[in-house]
This record gives sequence, C-alpha cells and structure tokens, in this order.
Amino acid sequence: MPGTPKGVLVFHKPVTLHSTQPITAEIVLESMTEGFCLLDDALQLIYINEKAEELFRTERRSVVGRGLFELFPEAMDSLFHHHYERALREQVTTEFVDYYEPLDTWFQVKASPMKKGGLAIFFQDVSERQKTEAQLTEAAYYDYLTGLSNRRSILQTTRSMIERKEKFSVFHISIDNLNFINALHNQHAGETIMKKIAQELKSFSSDSCHVGRMDGNEFIVLLKPRTGENLAEFAEQIEGIFYTSISLENEKKVTISASIGIACYPFDAESTDELLSFAEMAMSEAKNVHGSSYAFFRPVMKIQRARKSIIEEGLAGELKTTGFYYTMQPQIDGRSNELVGVEVLSRWNHPELGEISPPEFIQVAEETGTIVSLTLHLLTEVFTKIKEWENHFEWNVRTAINMTASLLSNSDFFDQFFYMMDRYKINPDLIEIEITEQAELTYSPKTLENLLLCKAKGISIAIDDFGTGFSMISYLTHFPITKIKIDRSFVQKIGQDTKSEAVLKSLIHLARSIECELVAEGVERNEEAAFLRANDCDVYQGYLYDKPLKVIEFEQKYLLVEDKSSKK
Ligand code: C2E
Ligand code: CA
Ligand code: CA
Repeated sequence: MPGTPKGVLVFHKPVTLHSTQPITAEIVLESMTEGFCLLDDALQLIYINEKAEELFRTERRSVVGRGLFELFPEAMDSLFHHHYERALREQVTTEFVDYYEPLDTWFQVKASPMKKGGLAIFFQDVSERQKTEAQLTEAAYYDYLTGLSNRRSILQTTRSMIERKEKFSVFHISIDNLNFINALHNQHAGETIMKKIAQELKSFSSDSCHVGRMDGNEFIVLLKPRTGENLAEFAEQIEGIFYTSISLENEKKVTISASIGIACYPFDAESTDELLSFAEMAMSEAKNVHGSSYAFFRPVMKIQRARKSIIEEGLAGELKTTGFYYTMQPQIDGRSNELVGVEVLSRWNHPELGEISPPEFIQVAEETGTIVSLTLHLLTEVFTKIKEWENHFEWNVRTAINMTASLLSNSDFFDQFFYMMDRYKINPDLIEIEITEQAELTYSPKTLENLLLCKAKGISIAIDDFGTGFSMISYLTHFPITKIKIDRSFVQKIGQDTKSEAVLKSLIHLARSIECELVAEGVERNEEAAFLRANDCDVYQGYLYDKPLKVIEFEQKYLLVEDKSSKK
C-alpha cells in the first residue's frame, strides 16, 4: 500500500479468553463508514481510507503524497481551508458542514490535531440531509401557493427592519369576496385568484418593497419610503390591480375587490405586533366601504377594536345573563288595522357598553361565527313565547326572524332550526325567515338547498331591504321567495321625490306580478301609508303603527287587550 500512516493509532480489542490479537488502526479505519484521511502539517495527504476514496471519487495511489488544495483547488479559501488551518494553528478540534461544488457534495467534517503533528479528518456525505433541510427552509419561509414570503418571513423582515430603526409602512391587503367566490365556483377559483393577485403584487417587489402572503386571503406589503411617492398613491396602485376582472379556469370572469389598511413605523407603532395589528385594524375599516378602498390607521381604531373585543367576548358568553333580549315589531294591515305579522328584532343592553345597536353586534356575531348560537338562543326564546301565546291567546300570527348570509349557507344550523321547530311543535305556517338582499350571497347551492327545505316545510321566506341590493332580480329568480319587504329608503321619499315614487310603484308592481306578499318597511307618516295604499300595498311595518316593542309591551297592546275584548 503506498504511503504509510505517520501517526499510529492502535486500537485494542478488550482482552477475552478467546482473542488477544491486537487490531490495527488500519483495519478499523478501512472498515469505517465515515471517510477518514490524515494530513501532515503542510496539509498534504498521507493516508485516506476506502470510504474517503469513494467520497473523493479517486484512488488513494493518485492522491497520497499530494497537497489537499492541489487536489481540490476549489476548496482554497473555503470553510475547509479555514478550519484545517485553525485546527493546526490552535491545536483544537473543529467541526463544520460545507458544500464542495466540484463533487456536488455536502460534507460534515471533524478535524482533530494529532500529537505528533498533522490532522486526522473524519467526514461524511450529508447531501441528502442538507437538501431536505434546504427544502424545509424554503417551505418554512415561502408560501406554498403563491411563492411569496409567508407569515414567518414577513414577521422576521418586519422585526429586523424595526431593529435597524428603518422607516417603513405596512400595507395589509385583504381580498374581500373570496369566500363568496369559492362558494359560487369552487375552491380552485379562490386559489387561481390568489395566485394571480400574488403575481401582480410581486411586480411591486424591489429592494424597498417586500411582498408576502400573511394567511388565507391576506397579503402584506412592507414599503420603505421612496422619493416622489406617497403612501396614498402606492395604495391606489395596489387598488389598480383589482380594476380588471380575473379569468377563471372555466373561462368565467370574476371581479374582486380588496381592502387595504396602512400603518407606519415608527409613527403609528414601534413594535412588530402593534404595527401589524394596527394595519389590520385600518384594513377592517376599509372593509366597511363597498369595493376596493384603503384606510390609514388612526388611534381611535384602537378604541373601536377594544369595544369589538368586549362585544365578541359577550357574544361567546351566556347571552341571557348579559342583557340580551328581543323586541317585536308589528306588521299591520292598513285597511283593517289588524295585526298580520311580527318581526323579531334583537336588542342588547350590555353590562359594560350599554345598549348596542343590532347592526353592530350582529356584524360581530357574523364575523366571529357566534351568530349561530345567538340565533338559536333567540329561536328558543321566541318558540317558547309562541307556545305560551298559542296556549293563552290562540296566537296565530306569523313571526319573522332575521337570518344572515352565513346562516343561510349553514346546513347544521338549519338542521337545528328544524329540530327545534319539531321539538316545540311550531306550526311552520307561523314562521318566516327574512334574508337580506344586502348580503353578498346572490346564489350559492347550499343556500338554495336550505331555502328549498324551508319552503317544503311551509316556512315563509321574505326578502328584507328589497331594492337596496344589487341582485334584486337574481334573488327573485333563484330563491323560493314568498314575501318582499320594501326598504324604508323608498318609503321615506314618498311625497318628496317623484323619481323614487316611480321606482316604488314599479317595485310594488313587480312583487304583485310574481304573486309575492308585500310589506312596506319604515312607514312613519300618514302620507306614506296613503300613497302605499293607493298603490296596492297594504301591509306596513313602521313607527306610524309601532316601534319594536318589548315582549311585555307587545303582550299588553296586542294580546291582553284583544283577549279582554274577546271575553266580552
Ligand atoms: P331590519 O331587519 O331591516 O329591521 C328593521 C329595522 O328598522 C329595525 O332596526 C327597526 O327598529 C327599524 N325600523 C322599523 N320601523 C321603522 C321606522 O318607521 N323608522 C325607522 N327609522 N326605523 C324603523 P333595528 O332593530 O335597529 O335593527 C337593525 C337591523 O339589525 C335589522 O334591520 C336587522 O338587519 C338586524 N337585526 C336586528 N335583530 C336581528 C336578529 O335577531 N338577527 C339578525 N340576523 N339580524 C338582526
Ligand atoms: Ca328584517
Ligand atoms: Ca329591513
């Protein structure tokens, strides 16, 4: 064998009765699964084992006696070089992992100085491990769907910009109607949209602009100040992405919008958590505007957020004990002055916040999903009351309950609703659900399925706020509607605006032509009632007759009085 090891390592097997033969270092080294080589002080190879031959893709006779860096010139000035020199110079054992490109191999190396000079080097091929780790790192920092930086990476970048005290702004971009589009088409539609938007946003990225996907339908842009550009202009550029519609795989085109919230470091906040949450708060405000829009963070939003948290907490708790109750507003036939229906309207006298308006807490309930428990709670109370009135007053007037968009597409909710109707033995003729046209639901197969079930059971279905949405006709053609509630905004304009009066007349005509029942909402003045009656709309709900009444007030006015008169 060419070249004899200079350092002699002798391993002795434990002495046993059967074997006292020493095993030479060479035997051990040759059978090792690790690569091993010995270098002298000048870093010349004096020995390599069989595994090293394999890893170096060479034969020992052609390398032994030659300088390591003469054989592997690309390793000059690399970690290999640095560590070997150091191990020799400082007489310490060093360990490291480095990539050697000509062999396309990652080596994990341990270099130990030897007493008599030179280095013993142990090494192994860790390429597979390194590659998986690299993939994992990639997955750890990039969003799988869009290839943009992911949440972790955004947080890290934000943190390091704050550490460096660099001025920058956070744009929190939320795609508005993605759930609706997913319900309308399929999940691929949502993914296609996210990818397309990501592509557009990517075109903004530069040294001064970092783009990432935070979660689901939310993107983040971190923007350093640039001369000649203000934040509003940049927000408008982002809005510009949403001006053109997006083609889906099925060739259908969809228009989407985004809500953008902006918060600035260090002006608005000095910590990563606060900064990002402030941008999100601003985004929530932008969401209140229909279509794409942006909003800058303002400190008052913190107060609003705190209020919202209190509402959220209350909704998640025991509603009955926290001041939640309901009122009933009569629907009156203007010709006979008879009570022909009631609408249940929720109220909340919150222990800390006082009276909260229904649109405010209903929206929070809808966003957080507590609308299900709230509505089921309401139904329990109302059904109990209906049964009581049936027993005492021969109650036979239809009761309407408001349902939000998320409830309508929730089959579990409807299962419970129907179950409760059975349990309380509620006559379906006496129940109506109101669905608002303002909700973004236009058409979803689940909603249609649930509404058809209601219809089949004999439950009435009313469209609320009719005339204010965008999908009036599609509602009427898609859903089994039995009643139309004309919105207060039309009624209000009676006697004031002839154009609105004309629209109102045609809405009444439309409802009549499809044989729907009709109610005018928000009737406050006699003049309004007279106009409606003259135009063939006879049922009214409004302050002219009654405000929403507490149950006890309602009982006194409509049940106990009638009861007395019927007893006469
Ligand atoms: P809505 O369903 O359109 O209810 C009618 C609203 O108009 C009620 O407001 C009622 O008090 C008010 N109103 C009735 N007549 C008149 C009138 O002559 N003039 C004026 N100015 N207003 C009148 P409220 O009770 O504040 O409820 C607001 C909205 O909150 C409701 O609008 C409904 O969308 C929602 N809401 C209320 N309770 C519930 C509930 O239990 N569940 C759901 N999902 N939504 C509810
Ligand atoms: Ca309603
Ligand atoms: Ca309404």
